[in-house]
Amino acid sequence: MDRSTSTALTVLLAVVLAATLAVATSTRVVMTDRAGIRMAFPDKAGTWQGEVLLYCHNPECRDVVARSETPEDRTCPTCGEPLFEASLDETTFLPADTRIIKSRFQDPEGHDFMVSIVQAGQDRASIHRPQLCLVAQGNEISDSRTLTVDIPGRDPLDITVLDVIFRHTAPDGTMRTTPGFMAYWFVSPDHETPSHLTRMGWMALDRVFKSRIDRWHYISVNGYRDPDSSWVEALASLVAGLYPELTPSS
Ligand SMILES: [Zn+2]
Repeated sequence: MDRSTSTALTVLLAVVLAATLAVATSTRVVMTDRAGIRMAFPDKAGTWQGEVLLYCHNPECRDVVARSETPEDRTCPTCGEPLFEASLDETTFLPADTRIIKSRFQDPEGHDFMVSIVQAGQDRASIHRPQLCLVAQGNEISDSRTLTVDIPGRDPLDITVLDVIFRHTAPDGTMRTTPGFMAYWFVSPDHETPSHLTRMGWMALDRVFKSRIDRWHYISVNGYRDPDSSWVEALASLVAGLYPELTPSS
């Protein structure tokens, strides 16, 4: 390579770097309203029966109430204060434009799982890396893997499944452990991924090259791991049942 070609390449590289930096730092980034998920739980998902949960924010009460048992004015049956979609702690610690909905799902075989959907706001802190949250709450992650769920009419969906040892304090004050799981995936209008890092990568690319941030949703399912391992099959059946109900185009 002669000297002038080398200089030209150096200049070109500098221009590209400067342009990338300028786009990344100065362009106004627009938050779009497009969403890849419908923020409402179905009453039924395949053979699963759903029950949306609501939360009392009275610090003395903190009752969790099934929506079907909630009075018409949406007040807490225990203390009379208003009920909300997210718990008091979630509302306190997450950015104000984050929305969370939760529903319990039960199947005829007796599996009883909790599903939550977090809709991110403008702030990246709306959705944390799930592993960090679990460990920060005192739980232990003993295994991590990807589960491929067959969904009729589309490509299989990959979700992350963490084997978790949940730690909680029993009423008598002693520390108890329960074998559980936490499964999750992330959805934007254009992408689906079981990986938090991949999600961060898509967000950065959209921000730099499209000057926009689409809404991301974090869908998680948790429950107990029964000793006969039928929970894995049950988890796949719940995800397969929920997926078409939560997808706007279906
Ligand atoms: Zn209450």
